[in-house]
Amino acid sequence: MRLLLVEDEPALSRYVKKGLEENGHAVDTATDGLAALEAARGSCYDVMILDLLLPKLGGVEVCRRLRAEKNTTPILMLTALDAVPDRVKGLDAGADDYLAKPFEFDELLARLRSVSRRIPGMVKTTVLQLGQLKVDTATHEVAFDGQTITLPGKEYAILELLLRQPGRIYSRDNIADRIWNRDTWHESNVVEVHIKTLRQRLGPVGGKMVQTIRGVGYRLIEPSSNVGLTQ
Ligand code: CA
Repeated sequence: MRLLLVEDEPALSRYVKKGLEENGHAVDTATDGLAALEAARGSCYDVMILDLLLPKLGGVEVCRRLRAEKNTTPILMLTALDAVPDRVKGLDAGADDYLAKPFEFDELLARLRSVSRRIPGMVKTTVLQLGQLKVDTATHEVAFDGQTITLPGKEYAILELLLRQPGRIYSRDNIADRIWNRDTWHESNVVEVHIKTLRQRLGPVGGKMVQTIRGVGYRLIEPSSNVGLTQ
């Protein structure tokens, strides 16, 4: 998923960003409320992780303004432990869920999965299947024809993106925008390189499921419906 992390504490922000990226997410960061608003208005994120106490503009106000602008990006709010009135304020302002600091990283991942189910058009189950390909989005386990396949983080993220809407064509920019953060994705032919690795890992039959539509982009199809198409 493409995430916006709004956190003013540098060490926590770095730690969370690193962990999320290792789990295949693309993460942009903001360190104050105004920068968060600017980033949210300028880009489309799957989920925003929003700290409550922020310089310039607090998390509750960021939330309220975005909702007033009809921005429906799911928001996971980070609050201090025991700050019940703050949580209520956050939820009232339109946040979808909250997580109390300090938190276990696994719980953050679980909450993200939970709020991301509110993304319109997203399949709302943790096990996705297309033909012989099976992906568990909770554990990131991938199997083709019953054989477990190990995928690096970015390749996994591409596969999950394509598998969430089989048959839908994603342009290179589409994929890059979803999987890489704004600082790195445009630097090279990074999408082609990772698509190539993904195909190799999926094997000779599974790899054919990742189809190139020349000059347009990529999509995931069942091998049997591959007839007459490129790649
Ligand atoms: Ca803070």
